[in-house]
Amino acid sequence: MSTDTLIKELQASGVKGRFAQNVELGKLSWFRCGGRADLVFQPQDEADLAAFLRIIPADMPLNIFGIGSNMLVRDGGIRGVVIRLSNKGFGGIVPHGSHQLLVGCAASDKSIAAAALTAGLGGFHFFHGIPGGLGGALRMNAGANNIETAERVIQVRAIDRQGKIHILESQDMGFSYRHCAASQDLIFISALLTGPSASADDISRAMAEVQHHRESVQPVREKTGGSTFRNPPQCSAWEAIDAAGCRGLTIGGAQMSPMHCNFMINTGEATAYDLELLGDTVRKRVYEHSGIHLHWEIKRIGDFSLGQSILKP
Ligand SMILES: Cc1cc2nc3c(=O)[nH]c(=O)nc-3n(C[C@H](O)[C@H](O)[C@H](O)COP(=O)(O)OP(=O)(O)OC[C@H]3O[C@@H](n4cnc5c(N)ncnc54)[C@H](O)[C@@H]3O)c2cc1C
Repeated sequence: MSTDTLIKELQASGVKGRFAQNVELGKLSWFRCGGRADLVFQPQDEADLAAFLRIIPADMPLNIFGIGSNMLVRDGGIRGVVIRLSNKGFGGIVPHGSHQLLVGCAASDKSIAAAALTAGLGGFHFFHGIPGGLGGALRMNAGANNIETAERVIQVRAIDRQGKIHILESQDMGFSYRHCAASQDLIFISALLTGPSASADDISRAMAEVQHHRESVQPVREKTGGSTFRNPPQCSAWEAIDAAGCRGLTIGGAQMSPMHCNFMINTGEATAYDLELLGDTVRKRVYEHSGIHLHWEIKRIGDFSLGQSILKP
């Protein structure tokens, strides 16, 4: 079925959200490079997303894209449908009872930290420095400053591929270091978050420290995806990369940041292929140097361009 026909069928069935074809999705990721998505769908609200999921063909590939701060979109782009939750329909943050916030999964981590400050809730300052949204934070169990998203989560509302709603308690999410074991089939819609009472002064101070620390040790103004690799059990990933001589290593327009060598950056004209090849080259060199296996934290999605491939070690 052509994309045009699919869109017409979905609209005729009452799906109201926005459709966009041939979208330069890679340019929307923080790396600002990579291919196009055949079709991007932004549902109007939860009911609209459910209607869409009930109608699309079961074999249609689906990807969910948050703010794109942990994504590398390969140069050949993405087939099927990419779902993006709009801030309008899914970005709300509402105080809920005492010590709780009900947050839509399109809300940015920064806006959650700001809302927690207003509500006098501590333990959210780490979100002030993470450039993603709540959906990505849940899927990645994003963390910093010795706090993980998991610690703030009471309950998550999610929808599956058939459009059925699921309520997951924190323990059902299978959180571990930068990982959530909840089914990949689930799209997170909103979550109930909690934190202890704290004074506005203490929260503001913690947020300012987060910002200051990041600006001094991370290339936060570069086109990057944050930490490229998860920390292995033995040491920090950056230590293994540094020891293997890969600080500043460059392939095409891709470079392991001289400032923080577990951050990969697009210095200007990198392709997604440059970046992925650089990452896999680093993994190989680190393994040869120290026997340490580094595992990607950045999610790589989509197809290689014609003629490209990366042979996995
Ligand atoms: C400068 C910089 C600093 C960073 N610092 C940190 C840090 O300190 N700690 C840290 O943990 N990370 C850090 N990151 C990485 C990144 O910001 C986090 O992983 C963030 O949580 C990703 O959120 P996102 O909305 O951008 O998700 P995306 O990158 O768009 O997606 C990430 C994953 O989440 C999935 N996803 C997104 N939304 C949903 C949803 N609604 N339902 C289900 N799955 C979903 C996607 O399919 C994908 O698998 C940093 C990145 C940058 C660029």
